[in-house]
Amino acid sequence: MTESIALNVLLPAVPEQRWSCHSCSDCCRTLVGHLFDNERRFIQAQSWPELGVEPVAFAHGRWLLNKRPDGACVFLDDQNRCRIHTRFGEARKPIACRMFPFSIRPVTGGWQASLRFDCPSVISSNGEPLWRHKSWLSDLAQRLPRGREMRDRTRLQSRLTGTPEELDAITARFSRLFEDASNLLDMRLRIAAKATATLRQAKLVNVRGNRFAELLDLIVTGMASDVTKIPDRPTPRQSGMLRQLAFAHAEHVTLQELQAGWWGSARKRFQQLRRARAFLRGTRTVPLRTDGGGSPTFETVDTIVPDTTTNKLVSELISRYIITRLAGRSVFGAGYYDWPVLDGLDALWLSISCVGWFSRFFAACRARERFEFSDVAKALGVVDRAVTRLPALGTRSERARILYLALDDGPARLLNKYALTT
Ligand code: SF4
Repeated sequence: MTESIALNVLLPAVPEQRWSCHSCSDCCRTLVGHLFDNERRFIQAQSWPELGVEPVAFAHGRWLLNKRPDGACVFLDDQNRCRIHTRFGEARKPIACRMFPFSIRPVTGGWQASLRFDCPSVISSNGEPLWRHKSWLSDLAQRLPRGREMRDRTRLQSRLTGTPEELDAITARFSRLFEDASNLLDMRLRIAAKATATLRQAKLVNVRGNRFAELLDLIVTGMASDVTKIPDRPTPRQSGMLRQLAFAHAEHVTLQELQAGWWGSARKRFQQLRRARAFLRGTRTVPLRTDGGGSPTFETVDTIVPDTTTNKLVSELISRYIITRLAGRSVFGAGYYDWPVLDGLDALWLSISCVGWFSRFFAACRARERFEFSDVAKALGVVDRAVTRLPALGTRSERARILYLALDDGPARLLNKYALTT
């Protein structure tokens, strides 16, 4: 069922996060553009001799903007401009292209927007405050099929549904933790991981409403003195499973793979499994499809350390990322594969460890001994591109992996091993 009534769009209220498009064309080169049927019909009704190939492609049951062999959208011209935009104006561009880097999902009475960090202008927080984008985003949202109304019944613990106030208390308390720059980033991450572990042990059924908010405050504040001790090294199994989690974030599908029916095929699954095993073992060359420009071994990746001169920049970026994810409610419940709060929170802390692993990987690809801010920015782009968008990350087996890693101080140990600052 589709609706086109004006509904409110909730934007993440993060004053330090800004964005405007600076036409770098990264999104046109890396993403797969989905088309609605009316968009596909409009494009096909025009003549595009300059493209030299079909303007649209059908793959995996969806119509998509076609790609050039180098992976760029066929409509991207030599001046980095969109040919649809040039010929017919912005309003004729597909909604998927116009909406990027925002994602929206239906919530009661409106839409919840979240922001993607695989856009350089989002990473550098370059442009207008987010609230300035509300009007055009609302216009676009009205044209989207709303589908099934999502009733957010986020669980705090199994069989215990959180009230909106309790869920607000969680996002507000963890946001405050990451806004407070008086603690080092790694310390704040450790506090967050340890507080989540403590919440897992609490009988939350006995602590509801305001008392829940008070308990949360008490736990997070109390952790500050508890995390000065450096966590133990992760076990080989914890490290291996973290590497597998990083691998799962990097498995982006290309249009060519979709068209070849290769994605989801038995051969593909077999190859994926082989590479996932290699990530678990963590020996020899990293078998990664992501273009890092080199072929380091797992052992080399683990020797890379942060560049001390970029601590401040990295701390600001990662804190802003976490706050924006919390504010956009893309951490748990309907915003994150319908996962319970604590599983979603642990997935968030562990995804930062994945950013730490990828930062080291990108530096190792260029034979550097230290990773730089640009490596962290690229790593965050890879991880965030997958989060909430790759169905594989929301499967039962991924949740089982997060639950396993959440045991035995796993998130704190891994955040320490793959620390982003010194
Ligand atoms: S990646 Fe971001 S800045 Fe670059 S063209 Fe796309 S939306 Fe604009």
